[in-house]
Amino acid sequence: KHVPDTKIITELQSKYNNIDETKAVKFTDLPLSPKTLKGLAENNYIEMTDIQRQSIGLALHGNDILGAAKTGSGKTLAFLIPVLEILYCKQWTRLDGLGALVITPTRELAYQIYETLRKVGVHHDISAGLIIGGKDLKFEKKRMDQCNIIICTPGRLLQHMDENPLFDCVNMQVLVLDEADRCLDMGFEQTMNSIIENLPPKRQTLLFSATQTKSVRDLARLSLKDPMYVSVHEHA
Ligand code: ADP
Ligand code: MG
Repeated sequence: KHVPDTKIITELQSKYNNIDETKAVKFTDLPLSPKTLKGLAENNYIEMTDIQRQSIGLALHGNDILGAAKTGSGKTLAFLIPVLEILYCKQWTRLDGLGALVITPTRELAYQIYETLRKVGVHHDISAGLIIGGKDLKFEKKRMDQCNIIICTPGRLLQHMDENPLFDCVNMQVLVLDEADRCLDMGFEQTMNSIIENLPPKRQTLLFSATQTKSVRDLARLSLKDPMYVSVHEHA
């Protein structure tokens, strides 16, 4: 039988206050939409990794996040799941424009995030696009206003912000800064600062990094509001 989205959303949101991440083991232990849970299960994502368990609930709750966990710990789903849920709960449609922006240092990482989003988000009615260097700029420009979630590298994004009248981020709800330490190591500090200055201040920001350096803390100060700190230590 068909359950309307509005009913599902009200029920999900009523559970956000009672998330106990110490008890949650599987994705099904969290109040996630049936669309997301189906996408996760179909791709054999069953149990959460530590960074996912600790950050998804906080992000659903509306918090900004400063997350630190080493490479391979599952940070991609730690931010993609909240992104999907936030847009779903706002009943985002293809006509609502850019809802979430994911910035990552390299094209290769952008592709990987895009592929994960396509798999896990397949049951959502939301469009995603890659904005990375080395692709046809004109093609990217025309398609840009049709994307609800954009995965991008910093330099290329700033180029669109500067040159492309179709780039419109006034509705943007969620900003994800992925591998922030690497973005900074690669010399993108100024670019990142300029991008952040151009984004609407009323938004939720999720910043993930493998390491917490001084420059990451500077970027965090510039981009996050009252963040929750989530850090996963390696077990000896
Ligand atoms: P990070 O960004 O922290 O380096 P990724 O998000 O790229 O890590 O994930 C690393 C690998 O772990 C990927 O192959 C991904 O598919 C897998 N993975 C992530 N979360 C889970 C999970 N909950 N269950 C099983 N595999 C997972
Ligand atoms: Mg990663």
